Amino acid sequence: MWIDTHCHLDAPEFAADALAERERARAAAVSCCVLPAVRAADFEAVRALAHRTADVYALGIHPLYVLQANEADLRRLDEALGDWRDDPRLVAVGEIGLDFFVPALCTPQARARQMHFYRAQLALAQRHGLPVLLHVRRAVDAVLAGLRAQAVAGRPVPGGIAHAFNGSAQQAQALMALGFRLGFGGAATFETARRLRALWATLPAEALVLETDAPDIPPQWLYVPVAQRAAGQDQGRNTPCELPRIGAALAPLRGVSAQVLAAQTTANACAVLPRLGALVRQGPRGTG
Ligand code: ZN
Repeated sequence: MWIDTHCHLDAPEFAADALAERERARAAAVSCCVLPAVRAADFEAVRALAHRTADVYALGIHPLYVLQANEADLRRLDEALGDWRDDPRLVAVGEIGLDFFVPALCTPQARARQMHFYRAQLALAQRHGLPVLLHVRRAVDAVLAGLRAQAVAGRPVPGGIAHAFNGSAQQAQALMALGFRLGFGGAATFETARRLRALWATLPAEALVLETDAPDIPPQWLYVPVAQRAAGQDQGRNTPCELPRIGAALAPLRGVSAQVLAAQTTANACAVLPRLGALVRQGPRGTG
């Protein structure tokens, strides 16, 4: 059994076939998907989808959406976390974080705006007692600074997952010390990703969770090179069905079987997202 700890099944790319893709993934032993919201307007839909597919969800404002977001969206998040506090399928605050890669988000004003939404959402996660799902692109140290500021103020965030992690071993250790697990997926299936694969191979087993980030971050076998895309071919859509194959591709790098990797990463996901753990322990009525 596999858990996809980061899957945007509510994305427009799945508008026509989200339920069919989810069934296909379930048939491939993906027992649960974590569905993170990216903007306040999607909170209801993400929650409804997670209930429909017997999955779990997170609520948050993604750094790529903060330029369109406002203070009312933060209040909406606070309200939703309160209104649905007893929903066992609401497992985290996310997707939140910092993106210092996209040029439009790197102006001084945009960075300040990202920091504001990130810090405000960390505070909400702490207040509502939920872990966080972090988007971290070229911003690991700034993300760590936000987490440490919460801890120093006596209001630590209860851990979470740094999704699509691509930092250094030292940064990985710093996140782990703050109660975080690191999400790996399609990016590590590329043989050219030497540094990332070395990290994957050497981190402690307790640190690792798996994800697809579908419809994004295609694994090597779905990737369409730039030249072919320029010639009009679409980038292959990533789906939650790919998770077992990603796991099978990454397990040998750690010298374990796919079964052992599935068990380890499932246990880690359940530990870091306690409400997910409770549902998985309930068995088929919880997930699946
Ligand atoms: Zn995401």
